[in-house]
Amino acid sequence: MRFFLDQHGCAKNQVDGELLIGILGQRGWIRTDIPEDASLIIVNSCGFIESAKKESLESVITARAAYPNAKVLLAGCLAERYASDLSENLTEADAFFGNGDLYRLPEIIDKLFPESDIRPGLSGKTEKVPVLVPAQQGVCSGSRPQLLSFPGSAYVKITEGCNNHCSFCAIPLIRGELRSRPIHEIIDECSLLISQGIFELNLIGQDLASYGRGNEDAVSGERKENPAEAGTSLSPLALLLTALSGLEGNFRIRLLYIHPDNFPRDILPVMTADFRFLPYFDLPFQSGSKAILPAMNRKGTPEQYLGLISDIRRSFSEAVNPYGFVAFRTTFLVGFPGETAEDFDETSAFLQSIQSLWSGGFIWSCEDGTKAALLKKRPPKKEAQTRLELLRQIQSGMTSEKLLFFTGKILDVLVEELVLNPEEGNNDIPASRLAIGRTWFQAPEVDGSVVLQYEEDRTSLDGGPIRPGSIVRAYIRGVSGVDLDGVVQ
Ligand code: SF4
Repeated sequence: MRFFLDQHGCAKNQVDGELLIGILGQRGWIRTDIPEDASLIIVNSCGFIESAKKESLESVITARAAYPNAKVLLAGCLAERYASDLSENLTEADAFFGNGDLYRLPEIIDKLFPESDIRPGLSGKTEKVPVLVPAQQGVCSGSRPQLLSFPGSAYVKITEGCNNHCSFCAIPLIRGELRSRPIHEIIDECSLLISQGIFELNLIGQDLASYGRGNEDAVSGERKENPAEAGTSLSPLALLLTALSGLEGNFRIRLLYIHPDNFPRDILPVMTADFRFLPYFDLPFQSGSKAILPAMNRKGTPEQYLGLISDIRRSFSEAVNPYGFVAFRTTFLVGFPGETAEDFDETSAFLQSIQSLWSGGFIWSCEDGTKAALLKKRPPKKEAQTRLELLRQIQSGMTSEKLLFFTGKILDVLVEELVLNPEEGNNDIPASRLAIGRTWFQAPEVDGSVVLQYEEDRTSLDGGPIRPGSIVRAYIRGVSGVDLDGVVQ
């Protein structure tokens, strides 16, 4: 039987999608990229904010209309959050599956395709719409035979859930309290991925800084096994990075989603001691206003956040940083209830002070069940949109300026795609090839890229042909917008 996975949302949800592929694969299901050929369409949804929820719902409705013979399963955060309501109203879906325990998927599959009825294309309605929303427990992990990232790159989820309870955020309502994977399990997964040729490992969770908190045994196991660390007071994240640094191989590690309030500074000496840890810090500050931060249930102040930024920059001083640069990414939420023009001015001034290389922004979305949903004095949507636009303008100006630092430099680039050069085959112009890739300060999907040009005789660093997943050394000729132009050496 064939299934089609329609993936939505964040990197954490992508890992769940990859696990669902593995779980179905173990039961003989084959993944197809052609929805027409599928007996089962899984919409692995996002339930974070209004626009994302709408997009996932539309996918279910579209799938139902386009593939009447297929079963449509709503999985992911939207199902986790609203399964009982949606099972009454979203008749386009044949079943609903939460993300508390992905290994219970077969129970839903068996209901959708009862033994007596597993002929492709039969879409008889089951008497009652199957709904399964297992309790949120542990951190689902396991085999991921097909990664959804570009070749050479993988996400590694180290925690699930969150205890920070930012007042605007529904994730703790969806994913529950914080849980952390044991260090040895993460090490095993990373070494397997490295042995499979993965060069870039992106560690993810709702908040990496909280790794191991409230779940000490996930760490103490490590301490007991490793007497050297028995007496240490290293943070759980520093212990994990120390263990990762013990792995052999040519790979790179990026840390995504580190809550600035919980940033464990003891990871810095671990990272500066091993150049495979990228000096790339994704710190979602959300606001730079001293009035709005506490309303968001954020403990830090703009001054403290600026202090954190300079501490990190100081730690990665020239002496210890072969990259000669520290890349910061952040995220802002505008239009939060009570946000005045003065508050916003503080946020845009804060953005200019942190001098981030990248940042993203959202307009506050009133999420039921969150504290912020009860707050008044909401700025008009139009005003919020204007503020978001202003932050984007500030950021794109900073990004282009900062990228100039790399002009004339040689960088290693992970190739993601080969691009057909329109001039190819035109005998008048020497056939040079094009490819798209990313270098160390460009995270997957959210940051800019390196547009690569190369002569036919060029190879990747391992001497092999240039193809998705290979690493090439490129001379950076210039900057265009948020991307770099490079020539493979
Ligand atoms: S840190 Fe805050 S914004 Fe992030 S998942 Fe947790 S509650 Fe949500």
